[in-house]
Amino acid sequence: MEKKDLLTISSGEKAQPFHWSVGRYGSKFLTELRDHKKIFGIKCPSCGRVYVPPRRVCGRCFMEMSAWVELPPRGTLAAFTVLMFSFVDPDTGKERPVPYGYGYVKFDGADSTFPHFLAETDYKKIKIGCRVEAVFEEKRRGHLLDIKHFRIISDESGPGPKPRVHG
Ligand SMILES: [Zn+2]
Repeated sequence: MEKKDLLTISSGEKAQPFHWSVGRYGSKFLTELRDHKKIFGIKCPSCGRVYVPPRRVCGRCFMEMSAWVELPPRGTLAAFTVLMFSFVDPDTGKERPVPYGYGYVKFDGADSTFPHFLAETDYKKIKIGCRVEAVFEEKRRGHLLDIKHFRIISDESGPGPKPRVHG
């Protein structure tokens, strides 16, 4: 089939805004992020695992969780990629300029990983296991992008003291 035979259909140029509830757990997480630049996870009463972002039920024990845990804004990089090809960001409807880093961060004191953007774009300078820190937006609006990205830090001390448990 020649290229001129291929049909293209446009779905239009208008974006359709929509809203949804992030729920009780998501609201607490995003409010603390917006108002205090704090990272909150939630701890399972049965297995002790700490999840960030928080969720209602532990995926291992099926126990409802209610113990909030404040975590430092630092962690360890568990996985990463550097995107070289642009695509439409479903969060903004626009193409994010490339290259950009994307990784899974395990906050100190957490047992789950948290996906987010990385400030570093040179994949040779990013290592699994390197220490990273959240960089917050100046104007926050209660959104995951209130964390602008994570930057690599030279922190040889590793994870700090045990996190504080609330409630
Ligand atoms: Zn559990």
